Amino acid sequence: MPNLEDKLENLIKITKKWDKDANTEMIEKAFWFAEKKHKGQKRFSGEPYFNHVYETAKILAENRFSTKTIKAGLLHDTLEDTNTKEEEIKDLFGEDTLFIVKGITKLGKIKYRNDERYAENLRRMFTNAAEDTRVILVKFADRIHNLRTLGYHKKPEKRTRIARESLEIYARIANRLNMWHIQSELEDLSFRWIDPEEYKRIKKIIIKEKKKNKDFINQTKQEIKEVLKKNKLENFKVEGRIKNVYSLYKKLQRKNNDISKVYDILAFRIILNSEVDCYKALGIIHALNKPIPGRIKDYIANPKPNGYKSIHTTVFREKMITEFQITTHKMHDFNQYGLAAHPKYKEKELASEWFEYLKKINLASETSKEFLETIKLDVFSKDNIYALTPKGDAIELPKESTPIDFAYKVHTDLGNKCYQAIINGKIATLDSKIENNDIVSIKTKKNAQPKQKWLEFVKTSIARQSIKKWLKNNKKAENIVIGKEVLIKKMKEIIGKEIKIDEKTKEKILTKLNRKEFNTILEDVALSNIKALDIIKIIAPELFKNQVFKKQKEEKENLKITINNIKNIKSNFAKCCRPQKGDDIVGYITSMGYIQIHKKGCRKIKNKPKYRLVDIEWE
Ligand code: MN
Repeated sequence: MPNLEDKLENLIKITKKWDKDANTEMIEKAFWFAEKKHKGQKRFSGEPYFNHVYETAKILAENRFSTKTIKAGLLHDTLEDTNTKEEEIKDLFGEDTLFIVKGITKLGKIKYRNDERYAENLRRMFTNAAEDTRVILVKFADRIHNLRTLGYHKKPEKRTRIARESLEIYARIANRLNMWHIQSELEDLSFRWIDPEEYKRIKKIIIKEKKKNKDFINQTKQEIKEVLKKNKLENFKVEGRIKNVYSLYKKLQRKNNDISKVYDILAFRIILNSEVDCYKALGIIHALNKPIPGRIKDYIANPKPNGYKSIHTTVFREKMITEFQITTHKMHDFNQYGLAAHPKYKEKELASEWFEYLKKINLASETSKEFLETIKLDVFSKDNIYALTPKGDAIELPKESTPIDFAYKVHTDLGNKCYQAIINGKIATLDSKIENNDIVSIKTKKNAQPKQKWLEFVKTSIARQSIKKWLKNNKKAENIVIGKEVLIKKMKEIIGKEIKIDEKTKEKILTKLNRKEFNTILEDVALSNIKALDIIKIIAPELFKNQVFKKQKEEKENLKITINNIKNIKSNFAKCCRPQKGDDIVGYITSMGYIQIHKKGCRKIKNKPKYRLVDIEWE
């Protein structure tokens, strides 16, 4: 184990590799400060706690982040885990550093219930990151080192949760910031914990493919280099690039687990001096090997929304279908490290559009849970599409989004004042479904207003929340009337008649829901924040004990399954095919160990590995 001086020297060496003029004095100061503060503390692995802090800083340095960020990495756990006072950090290391360290320090344990605290912690971190991006950069490095050492964590359920959160949230943010290095490490480290068997299986495929194609890779590299030279291109690099485990896993799922349909496990990357050289190289590759029609993607002319730039083309090469990625040195650096690729970038203002959007979600969300849901639904949904503004800016939306969703995503005022949509030059209704690459233009009117009925078809939470918020603030009287109507309608539907709510019942409802004014409850019923059914349950509890609940219970009891005569197995019904009692069914073992019940022949399980499927029958 290297001693402390060696560690410090190493950290400074890595920092200077990317930024040779870096002022490392502050890194030194923070290094010894943190070392002293964490003295005596140990991690689950038994190693000194300071080691975690050092590794975090090292990851930051390796990813070319600035000395200020590395310094914050060294200090990141001092507030939470040692007796360090905020004042101390401010005086010794400055206000900026205090903001970053505070930004990732978790909230105290007492104030919140478990899941609330979890959501609140994430919300706070995101909003801090929107102010100063370095908060999320330190969090990335902290998380990467925690994942590397996750095996020492004592509680298995906590391990899975950390891995899942890293995959579902942090890796996707890294993708948004075009930080491929960080993204791929977060993905593979987490995937290993979430689905160890699949991880091993895919890893094996990659190793096998690499070995099998070794000669092909070397020959191709050699030939491309020669032909580029012959065509007078200079200062270029040709390299092989291999997909990371998790991205191959995702691709295989999309391709029915058919490895022969994945053409880019191995791809070739050609890195050149200028854009013009890139297009020249594209021509040269196509003259050498016949391109597959429709497989050329020009992300230089049309960069991905995260800024990724490269030209991808797939060609027939000997018997192999092969992908080439053509890019400039500058673009390549950016694709690997995001904005940190530029030596004199301003990390604090690295705030991409994406962080601007985070701020908007934060304003529109009432609770932290709502905030987290919105992020998961609107930002991280797997099959998002891109709609284009008339200027050509790409707006990311979940599938089946409507012009209203588009409008609110662009700007809250555009949503609130929207009255007509034009999709690809034609007038479209406000509930039309937007397709990928549609050009959407929103017409506004000064006196236009959000409508209650929009809530029935909008897809994004940001739109839903913005509409609700507007209605709540501007349509108080109307909402009270609507709420009343909804409640009466539901009473008639369930009980068969309207029950008058007297003062005593009102009191009861107010107490139960912890409210002061009955009208605010009616408003929330109108905005479907409170279910009418829940109010009726308070008004006439006796009705539910005997009828409705009993019926629900019966239904549940009927829907039990057995495996080889073993009863009462933990299971749930797949939402994709919604099997009913009597259907032919099959069980899928989820990574959480549940049996998910699918209809036989359901599309969703077609691609799943055989060993995870199990025969089940109705009890
Ligand atoms: Mn930490």
